[in-house]
Amino acid sequence: MFAIKCSPSLLRKATLANCKRFFSLELSSDQKQLKDLSEKFTLQEIIPKAAHHDRTGEYPTEILKKLHEVGLMNLHIPEKYGGAGMGVFDCAIVSEELSYGCSGIQTAAEANAPVIIAGNDAQKKKYLGRMVEEPLMCAYGVTEPVAGSDVAGIQTKAVKKGDSWVLSGQKMWITNSGHANWFFVLAKTSNDKPGKAFTGFIVDGNSPGITVGKKEINMGQRASDTRGVSFEDVVVPDENRLGQVGEGFKIAMGAFDVTRPLVGAGALGLARRALDEATKYSLERKTMGKHIADHQAISFMLADMAIGYEAAKGLVYKSAWLRDQNQRNTYWASIGKAFASEVANKNAADAVQIFGGNGFNSEYPVEKLMRDAKIFMIYEGTSQIQRSIISKLLIDSSKSGDPLYNKVF
Ligand SMILES: Cc1cc2nc3c(=O)[nH]c(=O)nc-3n(C[C@H](O)[C@H](O)[C@H](O)COP(=O)(O)OP(=O)(O)OC[C@H]3O[C@@H](n4cnc5c(N)ncnc54)[C@H](O)[C@@H]3O)c2cc1C
Repeated sequence: MFAIKCSPSLLRKATLANCKRFFSLELSSDQKQLKDLSEKFTLQEIIPKAAHHDRTGEYPTEILKKLHEVGLMNLHIPEKYGGAGMGVFDCAIVSEELSYGCSGIQTAAEANAPVIIAGNDAQKKKYLGRMVEEPLMCAYGVTEPVAGSDVAGIQTKAVKKGDSWVLSGQKMWITNSGHANWFFVLAKTSNDKPGKAFTGFIVDGNSPGITVGKKEINMGQRASDTRGVSFEDVVVPDENRLGQVGEGFKIAMGAFDVTRPLVGAGALGLARRALDEATKYSLERKTMGKHIADHQAISFMLADMAIGYEAAKGLVYKSAWLRDQNQRNTYWASIGKAFASEVANKNAADAVQIFGGNGFNSEYPVEKLMRDAKIFMIYEGTSQIQRSIISKLLIDSSKSGDPLYNKVF
């Protein structure tokens, strides 16, 4: 009935040769070095300053400059344009470590990541090249006051005039917009269906007609800079158009396959920090004559936090790895991002609980974690939107007789 049978020799071959060669959960020595460097940077440069940036909302310019100096910024930029040319998995390692120190600072550093995946050679040379030379920031402008989850509902328009486009509209919640050297902007270029109605542009930050709003005072991740940006008859040369006219929706959505594993990795860093802080505290604090870690109610909470973190880690890094193998990872990226962001929220809330009254106070690190965690369930697609994506892909693939969940180990 079967062409091959599972014999002991086949099993031995699979175990000794293939599995060893193709399946490993071990980091390479380069990746270990990258993780060590990011961890050291976080301990020395981020953790001591995180509370200051959270309290004041001051943008972490000095930290970003140092990150650039040590080579931990813009790791995704291809070697051809002077960058490190690292994959999503490698970038996720760095994101997790930086976020362990402060997810607001990690978000500011990370907002540079996805932006011109679809750029041509000249665009990449010009806009990515300069980011290698200087610690410049860019911003991803898709969301508008009237449309976040509903990307197809955006109203910003671009009209072709001669060799240029004239852009008008209002973007909202744009990370790094107060410091952006240039923007990716998604604009409507026709009334066609969503898949053809939008085009992506690179817009220089100093173009006449751009007005950047006040820094928003958010619940958490206060080191990160989020603002509204208005575009009033901003002239953009046609050479700054990304891809073909009408391809913008695909480009903007495609970026999520890269950014969701990275946002998921940020959530992992926060989830691990919450677990570490709660574990340390439970070994210091005593009630009823023993450390609170010795009360089963507390130790089981710690165990559940560890279970959440480890499970989320597997999902997030799997989605990053798949992308690096040039496999379509949309389903896994959404699963990893949704799960990791929810684990981060649970772990942060549990850490506050374990700290008792101290957990509610800003002298201790965990209330910040709880405030910072929430945004992971909102930006880069809310948890509800991730579930819409997952369920659609799941149902479509099941209908076709080739379910996604059975495709990759
Ligand atoms: C700090 C911060 C930084 C951000 N950075 C950026 C950035 O750099 N660039 C950028 O472009 N955007 C950015 N955003 C925007 C972010 O991506 C959006 O806020 C997010 O996608 C949600 O959109 P919305 O706020 O319009 O909420 P809405 O879309 O109005 O959603 C409101 C609620 O309804 C739910 N909902 C909506 N539609 C559906 C549906 N079809 N099915 C089920 N539930 C649904 C949502 O899950 C949510 O709970 C940022 C936001 C914040 C707060």
